[in-house]
Amino acid sequence: AELSPRDADLIARRDAVLGASYRLQYRNPVHFERAEGMWLYDPEGRAYLDFYNNVPSLGHCHPEVNAAMAAQAGRISGNTRYLEPGLVDYAERLVATFPAEMDRVVFTCTGSESNDLALRIARHVSGAQGVIVSSHAYHGTSAACAGVSPNLGAAVRLDPATRMVTLPGPAGIPDEGAARHFEDQVRAAIADLQRRGFGVAALLFDSIFSSDGVWLDPPGFIAGGAAAVRAAGGLVISDEVQPGFGRTGDHMWGFMRHGIVPDLATLGKPMGNGFPIGAVVGRADPMAGFGATARYSNTFAGNAVGIATADAVLRVLQRDDIPGNARAMGARLRAGLETLQGSHASLRAVRHAGLFFGIDIGRDDMPAPARRALALDLVNAMREDRVLISTTGANEDTLKVRPPLIVGPEHVDQFLHSLGRALALVEGRRT
Ligand code: PMP
Repeated sequence: AELSPRDADLIARRDAVLGASYRLQYRNPVHFERAEGMWLYDPEGRAYLDFYNNVPSLGHCHPEVNAAMAAQAGRISGNTRYLEPGLVDYAERLVATFPAEMDRVVFTCTGSESNDLALRIARHVSGAQGVIVSSHAYHGTSAACAGVSPNLGAAVRLDPATRMVTLPGPAGIPDEGAARHFEDQVRAAIADLQRRGFGVAALLFDSIFSSDGVWLDPPGFIAGGAAAVRAAGGLVISDEVQPGFGRTGDHMWGFMRHGIVPDLATLGKPMGNGFPIGAVVGRADPMAGFGATARYSNTFAGNAVGIATADAVLRVLQRDDIPGNARAMGARLRAGLETLQGSHASLRAVRHAGLFFGIDIGRDDMPAPARRALALDLVNAMREDRVLISTTGANEDTLKVRPPLIVGPEHVDQFLHSLGRALALVEGRRT
């Protein structure tokens, strides 16, 4: 499809004023004017099915969430140094969704701020520097977060006290050996950090390993490595920015799938359904120790509009059993993908928890660049069909599929139909 003169002009102005770091998705960029529920609308009024955006978990522009946000904006949006019952009510309701040991919360504005603060707490209470992460993890934008985000590639230098572990899935370890493999790697990282005098501050992981390519199985494989880090004096930090707030279907928080209770959990993305708000939730022990001696103030964090918005999000999520829908629709999508695998050899593997899917693209015998090209062709073919997804993983040959959690059976079926069409198109082109 040809770019309209309007969009060509917008792209030229955008490049001039915003620069190269503002990347556009798709060969044929998309332009949206409004959104509602599962749908995004372009200026011509054409609807695109959203199977990509995990921030508006309750659907785009949720009317009850927006009403709560607007009502609070019309009253007051002060800071957390004045008494405000809404802040305390929401904090209590949020920590009630965690295991009993995790009963403290500090608010932030983004996932990056949550991880940045969690790293500060871990380093403060452990007195150590070292952080252990997975080999393609992404944890955020601040200097400290970038220092523990190998996914940013060679352009960003990792912190000298960061150690990476490879996950059992991409290493080809069978499920029976997965926990052992992970724990062995963590123990080796601990030993190296101790030998070099850094010590161990934290094991930091996204419990569905989204940027690693959704290598989330088998459930429980993290437990032994997490225990080893605690025994060495470090904290266990679960980055819940992607899996949190019910996306995995069976659980409100991704770490629950692994049967562990971390010291800290970091929250972001769907917490405000689009309004920027995040949090660190954790055990009293490290959090109180940090609060008593360190100074932490964050101007906008915990502002009343953000809290009112997040409060409405949590109410709707619990009232409408949104995690239950993630479970049911995740199972429907998985079954449909397995059927498609029967007729399309280029659907190599499907992994998921609830409504976070990683779908490996390309036959086993294809070289990595050809698989990556095929995955990219599929994403672009589906965009022409007005269905939105993306890619992830070390080789970017894994389709990243994570629709809003309100998705219905008709949307799942439309997605499967579109993927089938795109597969037929790109497979025909390449054989
Ligand atoms: N952690 C993970 C696992 C993420 O995926 C992201 C964002 N993609 C972040 C942290 C950072 O969140 P934010 O961009 O809201 O700062």
